[in-house]
Amino acid sequence: MVVSRRAEALVLNGPESFERRWLDIPVTADEASLLRVEACGLYGTDHEQYSGHIRSRFPFVPGHEIGEAARRWGVAVGDRVAVEVFKSCRDCDQCRCGLYRRCVRNGLRTMFGFVDVDHEHGLWGGYSTHLVLDRDAMLLPVPEGLDPVLAPAFNPIGAGIRWGATLPQTGPDAVVAVLGPGIRGLGRCRRQRGRGRLRRHDRSRPA
Ligand SMILES: [Zn+2]
Repeated sequence: MVVSRRAEALVLNGPESFERRWLDIPVTADEASLLRVEACGLYGTDHEQYSGHIRSRFPFVPGHEIGEAARRWGVAVGDRVAVEVFKSCRDCDQCRCGLYRRCVRNGLRTMFGFVDVDHEHGLWGGYSTHLVLDRDAMLLPVPEGLDPVLAPAFNPIGAGIRWGATLPQTGPDAVVAVLGPGIRGLGRCRRQRGRGRLRRHDRSRPA
């Protein structure tokens, strides 16, 4: 298959200011990988970036709920993977403890969907036809048969479970109130099903 040497990307220059750009795809080294983006979700953060509630000092390619077809790097060509937002060096104390979001080499500086488009090749976000990974990127295999459009939902569903169950350490008998059954709220409800007591409140409808 002939791969275009340019990727088509949406660059967010400022609040409500998207620009379509064609970025050169770099020749990847052994540590890097080129992935073709099949699907990318729209997260709350993406909307806040677009509206200007979250400001950036530089233009960037947004998108961090990413599902892709792998072309290189530890997985077979054609394998589908989902991409974790944060990267991990897998070596610092924080990464060794499992707290890779606080990786001393990465953290917010390198998270996908929020890196300066003028940094190296610029292909750091999912709102593009291609994404380049370095060795600190983390991939999740997408099960065969799962619609690739649904695969990026691992991100908000996982966030709902993490924020509503893992971090507060709610037990089987916990009483949990979910305010706003969006995708994260529904993920939390799924985690609670068959356990304890669950109250769900949709703010768009009268109680
Ligand atoms: Zn680290």
